[in-house]
Amino acid sequence: MTRSQAIRNRDKLAAKIAHVGDVLRGSLFQRTIHHSNGCPKCARGEGHPLWVLNVGYPGAKTRQVSLRPEQVPGVRKALDRYREMKETLEAISELNQFLLRLDRQESKQREQES
Ligand SMILES: [Zn+2]
Repeated sequence: MTRSQAIRNRDKLAAKIAHVGDVLRGSLFQRTIHHSNGCPKCARGEGHPLWVLNVGYPGAKTRQVSLRPEQVPGVRKALDRYREMKETLEAISELNQFLLRLDRQESKQREQES
């Protein structure tokens, strides 16, 4: 990979994450809640499915956010975007690392030639 290829690739990746507003970190899972009495559905043992956003923090802490069913598609998309942005940031970082090494190599070569 040449320097200009690396820079072009990096700038293309950077353009992908220009809009970072709509992201969420965490994972989705479904839980079933059961009412203790007065609910025919729960009396039949069915319960009510509930979507939960689970977010982990350092120190094994987690936060859980209950979601309305209509929130689930948007949350799913925001989770996907977060993952994509993270991967893109990682790829940009790798390219910048490559450019750092290239700079060092070239400056070393110039030193040896002079
Ligand atoms: Zn119920």
